[in-house]
Amino acid sequence: MKLVIAAMVILAVHAIALAVTPAGGMAVSYGFFFAAAVAAMSSTVLAWYRSGTPRDNRWWLLLGSLMLWTVGMSLSARQNYVLDNSNPAPGDSMFFYILYVLPVLVAVSSAPVAARKRWALAIDLVLAALLGVLFYVRTFSIVSVEGAIGPQQAVDVAHMLDFENVCLAVAALLRFLATDRADDHYFFRAVMAFFVCYAASGYFYNHYVALGGHPDFGDSPWDALLDVPFLALCVATLSRKPQRHWHPPVYLIRFVQSASPTFLAMSVLGFGLMVIPGYPSLGITGAIAAVIGIGLRGTLAQVDLVEEEFRLSRSRDELEGLVFVDSLTGLANRRALDERLLREWHRPGQREPIALLMIDVDFFKEYNDRYGHLAGDDCLRALASTMASRGLRVGDFLARFGGEEFAVVAPGTRLVEAMALAEDLRAQVQAQGIAHPRSPFGVLTITIGVAAVQPSAASGPLELLNSADRALYRAKHNGRNRIGAPSDARLENSLRTG
Ligand code: GH3
Ligand code: MG
Ligand code: MG
Repeated sequence: MKLVIAAMVILAVHAIALAVTPAGGMAVSYGFFFAAAVAAMSSTVLAWYRSGTPRDNRWWLLLGSLMLWTVGMSLSARQNYVLDNSNPAPGDSMFFYILYVLPVLVAVSSAPVAARKRWALAIDLVLAALLGVLFYVRTFSIVSVEGAIGPQQAVDVAHMLDFENVCLAVAALLRFLATDRADDHYFFRAVMAFFVCYAASGYFYNHYVALGGHPDFGDSPWDALLDVPFLALCVATLSRKPQRHWHPPVYLIRFVQSASPTFLAMSVLGFGLMVIPGYPSLGITGAIAAVIGIGLRGTLAQVDLVEEEFRLSRSRDELEGLVFVDSLTGLANRRALDERLLREWHRPGQREPIALLMIDVDFFKEYNDRYGHLAGDDCLRALASTMASRGLRVGDFLARFGGEEFAVVAPGTRLVEAMALAEDLRAQVQAQGIAHPRSPFGVLTITIGVAAVQPSAASGPLELLNSADRALYRAKHNGRNRIGAPSDARLENSLRTG
């Protein structure tokens, strides 16, 4: 609020100074214009520091625009003081008043910092250079260096400036409204403040002051209007970082961000069409370049998008794979085991029993205590590869159940066959001969609880798991390094029928 009051005071001082010193009005106005431009440039540099994104070169583009405008103002001063020319639209300064929007137009057309691409910048630079040429041709097709030949040309120049200022004000306003990032919001707030004020005050000044009988600066207190955009920029950059009061819909943000590259191409197209009557080949070149530029941008963006989608789907597949893998042993994990069990259980036409082997390493805590946890991990890996590579049949599914426990799902397997499979695994592990001095067996051994159940709609895999777990518990109780079978009468019944 204090900044707004300070800006108003400056405007009032400018207007009053013009009213009380009509003779020295031109010097007063130039003094205020240059001071306002320097203040705007300084606050732009400060804003770049405050934005906290050193890579964000959009602030430099804004600074570039302000500098070009200052060159235009210096040329106006030269026309007034050195050449004593009071024509309202001398070509050299008019050209810079038009050209100055170019850097900011590139910034307004750019993607957010994170999504910026080199190829997009290259296309923008080509279009921006072409637009500079079109500005030049358009300006000097209306006026000469000395200025407008007649009142109609001066009005034409004013219309060209209006068109350009309004386009940029609308583009900046859209970008300001549709941002989802604080740095974008801060930048476009400054640009929007400047260009909305510039479009409004420029329109009023050009049509009602300069073309309304006061072509020279200092002739009218309304000169103070030209300070407004620069002071608005200072206020927007120096006031505290913006608080978001309105959060636009995400779709609108994406739409404006995706459409903003067209701002630059549209300007090239617009000015290309304007110069066609006088310079057909240049105008048509501009129009074609605008169409090619926007088409190329769209195509390259599409290529990037397809590539990104492909990369994402690949990493999604990889992630999905990892969800079912135990990271220590590389075996299937508990989640995969549960899924497999459920799938086997509900397999249509399942007539054979499903067997489950619950495998637990004997005295593994002792092993860890003796050799350390890392050696324990190596041991679990070695056990996993022994069991996976020997003893299992096609269709058997080995998983790490958790801790030092493993499980095998053996579909279409009766209890006797499952007992034989378990005995085979137990013998393989013992034969592997991993030294375990703290075990009564001298080597690392496993105990296996076995169960086999005929799947039915009335039961679920949990019953099979519980049964195998109980069998394991009994085998442990009976001395370890052995196979345990279920003693559950109901299950044994189902085994007999299975
Ligand atoms: P039992 O013969 O009764 O099965 O005795 P145990 O020591 O094998 O059983 P207990 O449940 O007392 O201890 C299991 C041990 O397995 C304890 C734990 O530190 C170890 N363990 C579990 N997961 C891992 C692992 O991922 N790496 C290592 N190194 N050790 C593990
Ligand atoms: Mg255990
Ligand atoms: Mg154990």
